[in-house]
Amino acid sequence: MNKDFNIKSIIRPNVAKMQPYSSARDEFKDFNSEMIFLDANENPFETDVNRYPDPQQRRLKEILSKQINIPANQILLGNGSDEVLDLIFRAFCEPAKDNIITLPPTYGMYGVLANLNDIENREVLLDDEFQPDLDEISRTMDTHTKLLFICSPNNPTGNLISFEKITHLLNNFKGLVVIDEAYIDFAPQESWISKLNEFPNLIVTQTLSKAYGLAGIRLGLCFASAEIISVLNKIKPPYNVNKLSQQSAIDQLQKVQKLNNDVSSLKAEKEVFLKALVEVNFIQKIYPTDANFILLKVDNAEKRYAQILEKGIVVRNRSSQLLCENTLRITIGTNSENIKLINILKTLK
Ligand SMILES: *Cc1c(COP(=O)(O)O)cnc(C)c1O
Repeated sequence: MNKDFNIKSIIRPNVAKMQPYSSARDEFKDFNSEMIFLDANENPFETDVNRYPDPQQRRLKEILSKQINIPANQILLGNGSDEVLDLIFRAFCEPAKDNIITLPPTYGMYGVLANLNDIENREVLLDDEFQPDLDEISRTMDTHTKLLFICSPNNPTGNLISFEKITHLLNNFKGLVVIDEAYIDFAPQESWISKLNEFPNLIVTQTLSKAYGLAGIRLGLCFASAEIISVLNKIKPPYNVNKLSQQSAIDQLQKVQKLNNDVSSLKAEKEVFLKALVEVNFIQKIYPTDANFILLKVDNAEKRYAQILEKGIVVRNRSSQLLCENTLRITIGTNSENIKLINILKTLK
């Protein structure tokens, strides 16, 4: 338990002081009754989307709250994880003064958002096994280090970050630890959401873009203490999750069986794919993966990327990332897509 942590000490002063925008639909909350709505300058003629969406996404949060077993006041939803992450920067990091720590090779958005918000990004490389270097992180942080981003399973490397190391960081880091669990549904480990009560400085982000198959609706999830969530709620754009996205998420989340089947089938496909990759001669290393993608070290990433593209398949060349020279990241597709790719890989000269 991180007893030193006090949310009031890390929130930006302007955010602490500000009054949120109060939208018409925030003031009037009873959506289900047969009222006449002349409060928001909407067009009264029915198009299905002529009304503003629920700014607090209450039905969707109710479903998530039951499924994930967490109170609704510990959930914040955003227009993709990208918006959620940006809100975390804007709530806690003072431009040109504060800094964050990221652990490359990792998801590029943390660095992009740091730049956008004029926050110094202190990079502490992962070690040979793509695990955090605790001593170096400890040397790198100072009183202005507000956020530490841990992506687990990590993108682009695919591995989970050690439970013990994250626990150590949660206990010793003075700012907020953000664990990005975009790929957690594919991993053999439970979410850090179950530890929120133990660690007041923990924020967990997830997304409906990967396992849930809803990348097109842009829905990011954020779980934290009720105090942290209320700060983020205060600064979010009032109608940040549109009505079509809310409805689509509500519909899809009910299909629990389909979701479980899809994830199981992708995990099984991955195992078949991994076995087949062993026979491809230009692959030098297959990194361990707990996600729905595989990072490969090859002889010449640029050449292999171009050859695969030429055959009509787009993979991701991650060679520009630190510690990822000559690597390709490949997403697990359908059975027939994977077979096609394997057949291509086996014939490349
Ligand atoms: C794909 C991905 C996300 C998802 O972002 P969305 O904006 O929710 O689509 C978040 N974090 C990581 C590490 C990812 O790879």
